[in-house]
Amino acid sequence: MQDLSARESWRAVLGELELQLPKPTFDTWLKHTEGVGCDDSCFLVGAPTAFAVTWLERRMYDDIQKTVEKVTGISLEIRFQVNQSEPDAGSVPLEALPDPAAALQAAIPGIGVSEPPAGTPAPDPVVSYPVAGAPPTPSFAHNPKYTFDSYVVGPSNHLAYSAARAVVDAPGNSYNPLFLYSGVGLGKTHLLYAVGQACAKQQMSVLYVTSEQFTNEFITAIRNRTTEEFRHRYRSVQVLLIDDVQFMSGKEQTQESFFHTFNDLHNSGHQIVISSDRPPKALALLEDRLRSRFEWGLIADIQPPDLETRMAILSAKAEDLNVDLPDSIIELVAKRVQRNVRELEGCLNRLVLHSKMMSQPITVHSTSLILDDLTADRARHSIEPDRIIEEVGRHLKVTGPELLGKGRTKKVAQARQVAMYLLMYELEMSPTQVGRLLGGRDHATVIHGAGKINGEINEDPQLRQSVLTIKDALFT
Ligand code: ADP
Ligand code: MG
Repeated sequence: MQDLSARESWRAVLGELELQLPKPTFDTWLKHTEGVGCDDSCFLVGAPTAFAVTWLERRMYDDIQKTVEKVTGISLEIRFQVNQSEPDAGSVPLEALPDPAAALQAAIPGIGVSEPPAGTPAPDPVVSYPVAGAPPTPSFAHNPKYTFDSYVVGPSNHLAYSAARAVVDAPGNSYNPLFLYSGVGLGKTHLLYAVGQACAKQQMSVLYVTSEQFTNEFITAIRNRTTEEFRHRYRSVQVLLIDDVQFMSGKEQTQESFFHTFNDLHNSGHQIVISSDRPPKALALLEDRLRSRFEWGLIADIQPPDLETRMAILSAKAEDLNVDLPDSIIELVAKRVQRNVRELEGCLNRLVLHSKMMSQPITVHSTSLILDDLTADRARHSIEPDRIIEEVGRHLKVTGPELLGKGRTKKVAQARQVAMYLLMYELEMSPTQVGRLLGGRDHATVIHGAGKINGEINEDPQLRQSVLTIKDALFT
């Protein structure tokens, strides 16, 4: 096995798989696996539960084998076993590695773009993070890479970029609030961070929070009777950055609280920047008075970048990674990957990882292969929600109207929960979307239902088998 130990090789494999799979899938099935050992014919992988082992064997074998081959250069049989030990303990000891795969992974952003490793300290003390009367939220720390300097400007994002800069030049005085919207992966969070870092540099107190964090903190504050602190925390900042505000839809109490926070900050001339996946008008289930507040300042959209901007972004990211990427490759990738910048980055990371692992230069040929691969992955994940409902109904012998209806017999309720689970975990739909699709249920019901199945499949072999059969029918 060349000069990489099983553990290090497996980490490199995980790095690749993370780029290919939806996050919930990766987190559920792969995140806690480890490379246990390897000889010249077989690679042994440890997973935390028997169910994970079965799932990986049945659903991921080919992908894993292909990726292991890419990373090690050898075609190996893959075997899975249930971990006996703590993750990380008991694996094959590390050999001395001149260029460990881990270092390479760490050097590659995009693996965990929006969520730096838990516990990453915030480098700038002026920027504070939500605490919620509980341990600090580790899920979102400062990303020093998201600055104005690293943001490539083109016609598609020019308005949003200029507005964000104007806000930094005169916080509270230019556009207040600044409302940015776009589809996923087009740079909203990046711009929010850029504003935050620039304002923090001017010694202003800045608070970045996703609307989900805001909601959670608010709920915690009510439960712990600490709403006074909650209020104070939010109303004392000079710049409030609130990301993905669409998730506040339908949460009336949270909206009410945010409405008052908004007014207080606005009245004191403090700056608010909001991002959303759609314009205020299209935010369903948002109180009118909040919607009209959002329209007070400037609303700026970000469109998918044109070809030239995509090429410029790729060049910039390649330079950042210290990779020499020929123009022909940049053009090839930029032409094929059009939807959003996150995918563009993901593709670049994959090219770079692949070439380092194989010690081969990036060529037009290898790039084409990787691009084909990515396209195939996407097709696999583009299953229609209705097909899931149909397949669940067929296998669990429940009709469509029963699934969407009010019936609560054990059989119907469980089938409905399986549908919730698959829609959330496989299609990455939000609980609210799933609830709407399944006959207008609220998101808490969906979270409960999907979570229940997620737990029970580990204990109940029959349920596990049903879920696997449904998935097989869906994905093959
Ligand atoms: P969103 O919040 O809209 O989903 P992000 O801000 O998370 O998108 O952006 C996704 C990735 O793409 C990030 O790594 C970000 O740095 C990068 N990105 C997006 N737009 C640009 C741009 N114009 N220039 C450079 N990088 C960009
Ligand atoms: Mg974002």
